Amino acid sequence: MMKKCLVALLLLALCASFFACGGEHTHTAVEAWSHSDMYHWHACTKKSCTVVLNQVPHTWNDGEVTKEPSPTADGIRTYTCTICGHQGTEAIPYEADAS
Ligand SMILES: [Zn+2]
Ligand SMILES: [Zn+2]
Repeated sequence: MMKKCLVALLLLALCASFFACGGEHTHTAVEAWSHSDMYHWHACTKKSCTVVLNQVPHTWNDGEVTKEPSPTADGIRTYTCTICGHQGTEAIPYEADAS
């Protein structure tokens, strides 16, 4: 009988903490950006909170040729997000010089 009570109490505590996590709180954005290939965003300072704040697509700069294309391999242009610093690449196809 006593054991049952304890289990019930434990469950109640679990429920309470669950609702505390999922419940309302004022989301506070961390300073560092999180990013995927497409977007950057701020996570909430509350670790258990999975909300995504300020999610926007990257703002790419003009890009920089980091590898010149050659007849045997594509070149690489690297873009850097001016907001979060995330980098993405794009292949540069080789174009035979017409002249
Ligand atoms: Zn939050
Ligand atoms: Zn970005």
